[in-house]
Amino acid sequence: MLDGNWIAPKVELVREFATNALDAFAWMEEVDLQATYGTNAKYGGNVGTGTVLGAMWPRTHSFMTGAERISQLAKVAIENGVTIYTETRGTELIVSQSARVVGAKAVQADGTQITINATKGVVLATGGYSANVAMVKSFDK
Ligand SMILES: Cc1cc2nc3c(=O)[nH]c(=O)nc-3n(C[C@H](O)[C@H](O)[C@H](O)COP(=O)(O)OP(=O)(O)OC[C@H]3O[C@@H](n4cnc5c(N)ncnc54)[C@H](O)[C@@H]3O)c2cc1C
Repeated sequence: MLDGNWIAPKVELVREFATNALDAFAWMEEVDLQATYGTNAKYGGNVGTGTVLGAMWPRTHSFMTGAERISQLAKVAIENGVTIYTETRGTELIVSQSARVVGAKAVQADGTQITINATKGVVLATGGYSANVAMVKSFDK
């Protein structure tokens, strides 16, 4: 329900997130994001899991600092053929006549318009809606 009394996550998504956590941990080390809570000697040896704000028990792994994570993930993405555009705002999805999303339009900080054609789909990873006042008013009663 979204009437302000009860907001619940989708159980199947939470289950997906939880049951794949170990695989995600292994993947993080595959792309050389080294655990700072865990077994990595460089960051203090075998210290197990840690807690984050709001957690009652140690249940969290951490991987280097945020700045180190971002630059390492960017390096791996580029090595795998990804082009990264910074200071670029997605403005529109391109939809084919058969109603498939086949790309996106974006504008760069200097006003340059770019078009990206996609053959394998478009993933939206633009976060939540907390900056959208109309949606916050509508859902967060
Ligand atoms: C104060 C705070 C503390 C938190 N603490 C924790 C914690 O301790 N542990 C935890 O697990 N989670 C925590 N979270 C939650 C966690 O940060 C989020 O769940 C997570 O960052 C969401 O990741 P995301 O990739 O989906 O979105 P985001 O990290 O929000 O990334 C979305 C990105 O898309 C960009 N974007 C948006 N619109 C466009 C557009 N049109 N074109 C191009 N780019 C666009 C945004 O600029 C942003 O960089 C916290 C959140 C907050 C606010």
